[in-house]
Amino acid sequence: MRPTGKLHLGHLLGALKNWVALQESYQCIFSVADWHALMGEYENSKDLKAYGIDMVIDWIACGINPEKAIIYLQSDVVEHLELQMFLSCLTPLGWLERNPTYKEQLREITTRDLQTYAFLGYPVLQAADILLYKADAVPIGEDQLPHLELCREIARRFNSIYKKEVFNDCKSILTETPRLLGLDNRKMSKSYGNTINLSDSEAEVDKKVVSMITDPKRLRKTDPGHPEECNVYSYYQTFAPQEVSEVHEWCSKALKGCVDCKKNLSVHINKDLAPIREKRVELEKDKDSIQDILKDGANKARLIAQKTMQEVREAVY
Ligand code: SF4
Repeated sequence: MRPTGKLHLGHLLGALKNWVALQESYQCIFSVADWHALMGEYENSKDLKAYGIDMVIDWIACGINPEKAIIYLQSDVVEHLELQMFLSCLTPLGWLERNPTYKEQLREITTRDLQTYAFLGYPVLQAADILLYKADAVPIGEDQLPHLELCREIARRFNSIYKKEVFNDCKSILTETPRLLGLDNRKMSKSYGNTINLSDSEAEVDKKVVSMITDPKRLRKTDPGHPEECNVYSYYQTFAPQEVSEVHEWCSKALKGCVDCKKNLSVHINKDLAPIREKRVELEKDKDSIQDILKDGANKARLIAQKTMQEVREAVY
């Protein structure tokens, strides 16, 4: 995960809950991908270190356990760059230029200049991130499948050119995640300013939920609403599934107004966030221990990475 700012509900539901479950059945390796972040934020790089620490605080507060999983900072394990170099040599340019996410990001992100050598090659670094640990599986969303396929292609090409099965075929663990839009009905994203952050206070959550866009056809409290067209209703499906039918009734029969409906939703979101918030406060007080966790994680990750790099060098030379 790239450290590019505060984590929000989208991260919690889209990745972290799944990671917490996976660490019970897999040896998980979670990387703070600060070099990936640098590729997009090279002009605003000063905050990346602090974002990384903050992100690990969020991870642990959400239940990632450094006793069970390896948590480390990508830039603490230089072998990522060495492997990226070997893989770059054999990755055809056309594979990178065809990457749909690359094209989409060049089109959509207009505030930063991403027409760079590194950004075109970010899937190669991503492949190195996975192959360095000979990962059996990567938990991803459907939109990431082309990247994983590219990683597999690169691994096969390496094995085929050097006639050695250094890398295995890595599987995807597809994560079904509830669709959670931002406060303004667009994709939840820091760059849209429409997020509910894991570090938000109760009052901030209340304020943000009250600002959520609702059913545009329900202009007055006495107008019956259309819950299926309301983002607040879809949040109920995630944060209070036991109340969904009740909300449907009070909305469609105009028994309650949107302000009350939102206040009630806030209570549920705050209830879910309370233990995370509590743990966060505790972790914030001792950032040195987060540094220790990252140092320990990097030592463990490096041991695996160095072994792989030895095999890579032996295959190439
Ligand atoms: S009552 Fe609730 S579900 Fe219905 S439109 Fe208002 S906020 Fe949305």
